[in-house]
Amino acid sequence: MKNAAIILWALIKGSLITARHFFTNLWFHFLRLIGIKKYRPGAVTIQYPEQTKPLPSRYRAAHRLTKRPDGKPRCVACLLCATVCPSECIIVEATEDPDPEVQKHASRFEIDLARCCFCGFCVEACPEDAIRMDTGRIDLAARSRADLVWDIDQLSRGRS
Ligand code: SF4
Ligand code: SF4
Repeated sequence: MKNAAIILWALIKGSLITARHFFTNLWFHFLRLIGIKKYRPGAVTIQYPEQTKPLPSRYRAAHRLTKRPDGKPRCVACLLCATVCPSECIIVEATEDPDPEVQKHASRFEIDLARCCFCGFCVEACPEDAIRMDTGRIDLAARSRADLVWDIDQLSRGRS
């Protein structure tokens, strides 16, 4: 009997809290509608994933490898990004490039996004502007950890 009373009280308390939020938001929507309190909007639910909130322009989302005007990757496999990465989640393997101006390019470039902490150090360290985090991709759900290891092709496309 005592347990039933506790459950009933918890239900009433929860309902009162929900009702309070509902009517407070309704009030602020109403005030906004009639031109008062224009800068204090009521809560608005974003219908994710159909709707998404716009990201700030400097938001650090999933990585991409940039390309030169001729379509070749800008990366010269200097390993600075892999060296600076605190999560040790970047693997770069270098190979000689036929272009003597470039000398090296990455034959393998992988980022394990499951380990990445999105600090942006790799972008800061890159001397070639070869890696950016401007894809706007924040939906990185995957069925396995292996799916979150993006290779050079996926990074060049900026998506998996
Ligand atoms: S954002 Fe930070 S943790 Fe992620 S790959 Fe770049 S340096 Fe490593
Ligand atoms: S992405 Fe930039 S820092 Fe990383 S290996 Fe390539 S050129 Fe060097």
